[in-house]
Amino acid sequence: MPTPEKHALLSASSASRWLHCTAAPRFEEQFPEKTSEYAEEGRLAHAICELKVIKKFTTQLTPRTYTTRLNKLKKDPLYTDEMDKTSDLYVEHLTEKAMTYDSTPSVAVEVQVDFAEYVPEGFGTCDCIMIGGDTLNITDYKHGKGVPVSAEGNAQMRLYALGALKRYAPIYGNTIKKVCMTIDQPRIQDEPSTETITVEELRAWGESIKPAAAKAYMGLGEFCPGEHCRFCRGKAQCKARAAINTALEEFKDCVPQNGEKPPLFGQGVLTDEEIGDLLVRGKELVAWYKDLEEYALNALLNGGTIPGWKAVAGRSNRTFTDTDAAVAAVIAAGYDEALVYERKPKTLTELEKLMGKAEFAAKLGAYVVKPLGKPTLAPMTDKREPYSPAAADFAEVANNG
Ligand code: SF4
Repeated sequence: MPTPEKHALLSASSASRWLHCTAAPRFEEQFPEKTSEYAEEGRLAHAICELKVIKKFTTQLTPRTYTTRLNKLKKDPLYTDEMDKTSDLYVEHLTEKAMTYDSTPSVAVEVQVDFAEYVPEGFGTCDCIMIGGDTLNITDYKHGKGVPVSAEGNAQMRLYALGALKRYAPIYGNTIKKVCMTIDQPRIQDEPSTETITVEELRAWGESIKPAAAKAYMGLGEFCPGEHCRFCRGKAQCKARAAINTALEEFKDCVPQNGEKPPLFGQGVLTDEEIGDLLVRGKELVAWYKDLEEYALNALLNGGTIPGWKAVAGRSNRTFTDTDAAVAAVIAAGYDEALVYERKPKTLTELEKLMGKAEFAAKLGAYVVKPLGKPTLAPMTDKREPYSPAAADFAEVANNG
């Protein structure tokens, strides 16, 4: 299985955090590294991806060894059929990428790269590197489906790319002129996210982050709470984050204090500008509160105390201890089998997998539509296009027509 970036204080995967909050790496050192079921699932999915890429692009595995290894991975209790599908998609995307080269590129997987020239003691592992002509391609597979990750301006990918340039410089010299960085997150993004920049642009970016990296490494950084707190090991106990989210001074200003101070929002109805501002602050507040809840529940379940709080059993639903036996009992009681079972077709994705993309597109393409998703609120920084009711109407008409 891939090795996690355990020992780099300034890891590539946490770069978006330590570049914003330079105090984070040293602050986090006091909290133990924890693994979660999601992280373990991710590691398993990565191992399956790695195996399939090796099979597809190299001659290192005999069909028998490949099958034995894949079956072993599939026996892992965390294995799901979805991993088989997403790893196939990942290989498909890499194959498409390889076809953009004029001649077959060199492909390497799980490559250790060293970017210590820019970030003290910085190193990491790239999922897949492809080199050919003047282009270096780096691809990172992400199994998480919580938040879509964009490759644009992505610090983790740029650090990997800097490390890869260094690693392959003895072989390719200055022939590499462009770097294409891709994040493939097939569980939530149909198409991988990609950014292409020149080697000069990449190196200039590397130079630009050196001061922040040095500060973070030496423990001279500043706390700067924000969205990047999400994966910080100290996110529940960090006082800087708590201070931003409680911001008592600001709330005090919402109420007139003996007529001395003007209220922050005035009186009466909130304006749309004020609502926009409150939504931004409230988003982080909700995330922070959830982190506090998670921390407190874990502490209580581990025998600790959180004054004023206790752990209780949540809601649960009834379930059969043995579904087959229960269904047999219903039929034995005289109910028709047709009333007991539901006959459902396989999902679109399952049918596509069954038929293969080409046959699926040829025979079922006419029946496939991709409706516009339900409108959802997002900050202006979100990369998606703004929702357009006219586009939704058009999609409706097109689907009905
Ligand atoms: S919780 Fe946020 S502000 Fe606090 S150390 Fe971590 S990243 Fe920095």
